[in-house]
Amino acid sequence: MKIGFIGLGLIGGSIAKAVRNKYPDATIVAYNRSRDPLIQAFKDGVIDGATFEIDETFRDCDYIFLCTPVQTNISFIPKLIPYLSDKTVLTDVGSTKQSIQEAVAKAIPGAHFIGGHPMAGKEKSTYSNSSRELLEGCYYIVSPSKNVNDSEIRDFEKLIESIGCNPVTLDVSTHDYIVGAISHIPHIAAYTLVKLVKDNDTPEELMKEAAAGGFKDITRVASSDPTMWEEICLDNKDNLTELLDKYIEKLEEIKELISKGDGSALHKLFEEARDYRNSMIS
Ligand code: NAD
Repeated sequence: MKIGFIGLGLIGGSIAKAVRNKYPDATIVAYNRSRDPLIQAFKDGVIDGATFEIDETFRDCDYIFLCTPVQTNISFIPKLIPYLSDKTVLTDVGSTKQSIQEAVAKAIPGAHFIGGHPMAGKEKSTYSNSSRELLEGCYYIVSPSKNVNDSEIRDFEKLIESIGCNPVTLDVSTHDYIVGAISHIPHIAAYTLVKLVKDNDTPEELMKEAAAGGFKDITRVASSDPTMWEEICLDNKDNLTELLDKYIEKLEEIKELISKGDGSALHKLFEEARDYRNSMIS
């Protein structure tokens, strides 16, 4: 088995490490724009070949994983065309699924493309924070394009199952709507909460000083990579503007209840939210 990675950061590095652990004899090659992750991955025994350009290194792969920010992944598609063979399944790990599926269909009409999104990660980027355990036990969304047959889908699912992930099939538009609500809006909420504190702190920065567990828990993801989140927000624009309108409505509603002093309505809202949150698998 030969597997190529475009981008050896947190997610690309974690998948490569997990694949290396499970398949010691696999050939793993990687492109990265900076040198250090490639050198480290060689030292770790994770990769067998490395390149700073999309070239022959990627010829005849069984799988190529696109693991850069979502719009950057799309920019690599045309460059890969010369190196894809009939057996190559092209896949990605991006946090949005519709735009890449459309871009692949347009650039390479016959491409064997399976969109993917491991529903795990963390706010610390780069290969140095990757680990073979990062994705263990996570749901891995699989969005196959119409050019892949059942056995290619099954083989891909077996590969990600073998590294400890649980594949779940979703169409691209359902995926982008769902993750808009459970991942992208929470990131926006975290970024804006941090900005609220930054822009309204006392001259002595007492808010920053006093911020404790609750604030730090809820805003942890605001430490994520800004380029990654810029690309995700622009890529999922329609879902995010619709969901943001609904979220702003909720904030307006709560503001109204507080200003009216309507304790019982506030209590009911908090109770309903608490019960629903408690019903989620922890
Ligand atoms: P990362 O920053 O750790 O790695 C990104 C990689 O992309 C690096 O190798 C970097 O060199 C490369 N890259 C960035 N911009 C580039 C450019 N303009 N040209 C060439 N290479 C470039 O990020 P990550 O967390 O591994 O995220 C990678 C993908 O995984 C993203 O599409 C993201 O949406 C998705 N994802 C992230 C998480 C998470 O929690 N971080 C979870 C699931 C999916």
